[in-house]
Amino acid sequence: MLYLVEHFYSIQGEGRYTGTPSLFFRFGGCNMRCEGFGCKEKAPSGVVVLGCDTVYAVNKEHFAQNWIPIKNAHELLNVLALYELPTNVDIVLTGGEPLIYGNDAIFIEFLNALHIKGHQITFETNGSLDIDFEKYPIYKECIFALSVKLSNSNEPFHKRVRGDVIYNIASNAKEAFFKFSIDADSIDLSLEEEIDSIIIHSQKTKVYCMPLGGSKEEVERNTEPLIEFCKAKGYNFSDRLHIRVWDRNKGV
Ligand code: SF4
Repeated sequence: MLYLVEHFYSIQGEGRYTGTPSLFFRFGGCNMRCEGFGCKEKAPSGVVVLGCDTVYAVNKEHFAQNWIPIKNAHELLNVLALYELPTNVDIVLTGGEPLIYGNDAIFIEFLNALHIKGHQITFETNGSLDIDFEKYPIYKECIFALSVKLSNSNEPFHKRVRGDVIYNIASNAKEAFFKFSIDADSIDLSLEEEIDSIIIHSQKTKVYCMPLGGSKEEVERNTEPLIEFCKAKGYNFSDRLHIRVWDRNKGV
């Protein structure tokens, strides 16, 4: 079953397309937990669940009762009619990890329909789940923000860094770029080595570094040291505009 957690029309807040008006679909479920990020959220049952800043879209066990089960592609396509959208507005598919549905027939039908309607589709993915570009050529028309997880996620290396997957996506997609969330306190030689061990799998792919944080205060604290890091390494700095503007609010 495919699950949608929420949808909202906003501007892209981070990465290469920062500032672009975009309709977001947040899908439920992920192949990781990333408890190292230390975000806590109270589930409907009252249990406090540890994870990333979108733990409510990751942890099926505790949050699925708030997710919307999707039974056909029209239910997803009908979301577009709920908003007053400019023609061909960008569509961003996020989560959780949207590619856990990468082989799902409803999901593929949805992608094809969006493409035929002229929308640019961007995936926000952890870059660890492979894609069959020959079986599903629609993925060759999509953009991939590869937010490969660093060791601060507490996920094991073999699970979070899949060199074959990174190479496959970067080589076959319409466009791909790396996107890393970085805490000022973790900027040191080992971080540089860690990023190098990921980007080596696709050396021509551009790198965007964003300040880590689920709140405006955290983002602001991490911004200046990260800009200096980007200057030194030749990476692109990316703001997290949605957090800077709307702070901890969700669905904006
Ligand atoms: S991979 Fe992304 S969505 Fe999944 S748990 Fe980690 S940070 Fe959250």
